[in-house]
Amino acid sequence: MSERKHTPLSPELAASLPAVNVDDLLAALKYYVDEDYAHLWIKDQAVCAQCQAKPCLYFCPVGVYRLDRQNQTMVGYQACVECGSCRVGCPFNNIGWTLPRGGYGVAYKFG
Ligand code: SF4
Ligand code: SF4
Repeated sequence: MSERKHTPLSPELAASLPAVNVDDLLAALKYYVDEDYAHLWIKDQAVCAQCQAKPCLYFCPVGVYRLDRQNQTMVGYQACVECGSCRVGCPFNNIGWTLPRGGYGVAYKFG
């Protein structure tokens, strides 16, 4: 794998960016939770059991994927902010992903 170099932002560009606090943004979200339909699911727990790195535990910005006491991958779909990362982040394509049903899901205050 080639080494990636970190290039810092210029002071002018850094000064032009808005101050963004991710926790503040997440606190501004509204959720319309669909208790009758999980729009995310694990396709096969046996595949997760073979997955050593378990990147889903790290790439989801709101921690939807967790391990239970039996080391099985759990999906807390209610917290999903629909970023789409898990559509491409699972190396085994083992996450079922759909959008929430109409009228449900996350609502963004600023679009
Ligand atoms: S990355 Fe995919 S296969 Fe690995 S534990 Fe997560 S959902 Fe399962
Ligand atoms: S779509 Fe984004 S927020 Fe939702 S579960 Fe996948 S990674 Fe997490």
